Amino acid sequence: MSAIEGVLFDIDDTLVDTRGAFALALAAVSAVWLPDLAPERAPEVLAHWRADANGRYRRYTRGEVGYEAQRMARANDLHRDFGGPELDESDYAEWNGLFERTFTASWAAHADAPDVVDRLLADGLKVGALSNAATAYQVRKLTAAGLIDRVPMLVGVDTLGFGKPDPRVFTEACARLGTEPSRTVYVGDELDVDARAATAAGLHGVWLDRAGAGSAVHAGELLAAGERDRVIRSLAELPGLLATA
Ligand SMILES: [Mg+2]
Repeated sequence: MSAIEGVLFDIDDTLVDTRGAFALALAAVSAVWLPDLAPERAPEVLAHWRADANGRYRRYTRGEVGYEAQRMARANDLHRDFGGPELDESDYAEWNGLFERTFTASWAAHADAPDVVDRLLADGLKVGALSNAATAYQVRKLTAAGLIDRVPMLVGVDTLGFGKPDPRVFTEACARLGTEPSRTVYVGDELDVDARAATAAGLHGVWLDRAGAGSAVHAGELLAAGERDRVIRSLAELPGLLATA
């Protein structure tokens, strides 16, 4: 990847510890709305939320449903599976107020993010962010994480009205970054909508596999041959990956 001119980052669970912030937000709403739930089931609640099993957030990223509608549906999915009440509009407003206050107060950069961004910029690379959430929301998140001055938010789900894995959001982000897709790396924590989608759009997709999922399962089943050398376990591995090949 010696001809690389720029690096685009996913935000949630790539630059920002969104998983940790969700855990705190879900703990706050669970204490109020799922009071009988055993505390040791908190990891199940987090896994349920993040799995988006009914594809509600995916539908939002395709522009098929509004943000609040998908989130209210996800809150009710959660309550159905963990014994909470069905939320009407007014219950949901209360639920989401608590969730959102806790979530936004918990935003922080992953420990490996700031140094890597500094290193890439010092190496003369252009750096920006492409995310499947709304642009203004992600600007707030990058600001809270202390990254906005170094990582401009280039493309959100509202920029074109749809998000990853559509190839057009990747080419739009490259145009805004000022790099050719073939000279741009995209780093994200989701194998399909980040790494594979970026590669399909003509960029160099890199999978940030923080949990080590790629090594936990049979790598041959999960990863195609060309993908295996583009997996990193930490952002700290990124400069080394860019220096090789
Ligand atoms: Mg992500």
